[in-house]
Amino acid sequence: MKEIGILGCTGSIGVQALEIVASHPESFRVVALAAGSGNLELLARQADKFKVPIIATTGDKARLRSLTSAEVIDGPQSASQIAAIPADVVLNAITGSIGLGPTLSALSSGNKVALANKESLVAGGELVMSYGRERILPVDSEHSALAQAMRSGKRSEIAKLILTASGGPFRDRKDLSDITVGEALAHPTWKMGPVVTINSATLVNKGLEVIEAHHLFGIDYKEIEAVIHPQSVVHSMVEFRDGSTIAQASPPDMKGPIAYAISSEERYANVMRPVDWSKSHTWEFSPIDDDRFPAVELAKRCGELGTAVTAMFNAANEEAVGAFVEGRIAFTRIVDVIEAVVMEQGGGALSPLRDIDDVTAIEHDARVLANELIRS
Ligand code: MG
Repeated sequence: MKEIGILGCTGSIGVQALEIVASHPESFRVVALAAGSGNLELLARQADKFKVPIIATTGDKARLRSLTSAEVIDGPQSASQIAAIPADVVLNAITGSIGLGPTLSALSSGNKVALANKESLVAGGELVMSYGRERILPVDSEHSALAQAMRSGKRSEIAKLILTASGGPFRDRKDLSDITVGEALAHPTWKMGPVVTINSATLVNKGLEVIEAHHLFGIDYKEIEAVIHPQSVVHSMVEFRDGSTIAQASPPDMKGPIAYAISSEERYANVMRPVDWSKSHTWEFSPIDDDRFPAVELAKRCGELGTAVTAMFNAANEEAVGAFVEGRIAFTRIVDVIEAVVMEQGGGALSPLRDIDDVTAIEHDARVLANELIRS
């Protein structure tokens, strides 16, 4: 029986994690839940269904109390408090760099973290990894695939990590300048929240994932590549030094990587549908067009400069995506804003990040400059 806490339990990853728990009641017990203010009814239903003793919201505490018998805590630090409750694994499925504090809280309390919040590594890679690789269980499908493929060889035998990218809805579109918000929110393969969907359309998501892979696996940026794979069946690959490449393949379904992470890398029966070999399949791979999609190369350049710069990259992107969704800037301006922010603020002598306050300060400055650029 594994005790798990779930942060971001009303989002897509959190809901699927609870579906896995419900189908494996002998394997899991949910000890705590945390969610934002968006869906208090769902949070209360989850708390009652899974008999969770304590839950947290950033929303209306009194109203949540009227909906459930669970103990309720609230406030901006409540997710970090939930993360610190003793558990075998804390699943962090919060979106955005606000997930860093709860990740560090879970780790410093001795809990393992099933990490779906990639921004924890992008904004605070060294801070998170100082607790040790074995404490982090990747939930991102690409990094789960890499972790699985790495079991095929020794660390010293790895030549390269190859992340796959669906390419987003504009993979084959020549002119990206007139893309509408509605078009950008329609994603071909995965079902996700709006920020993640836009990040997938700009390939910023793949840039964040390259940074995530660098921290998780300790591989140099020059040995991490991304390739377009529209079918999203091969989730990533590890190339070994003898020229052999090991890939992990399964039809797109986040339940696979979620279950692999929250179980601490066990394989449960019937988690997801396997590839159907009674049908024909075509799996395509092609290089990224860096002229139309400059985000991945920009993320690598930022990564080589250090985590302070990747924190800026992420913060500037969060502001630019917000502005795009509100119709204030064009689609192609999202990555332009990021680049302008890191060019302006990422050049100076940047000392290593000491703590989360350093991250917050860097992000604040990046957000201010991003908004100035968005307005101009
Ligand atoms: Mg991913």
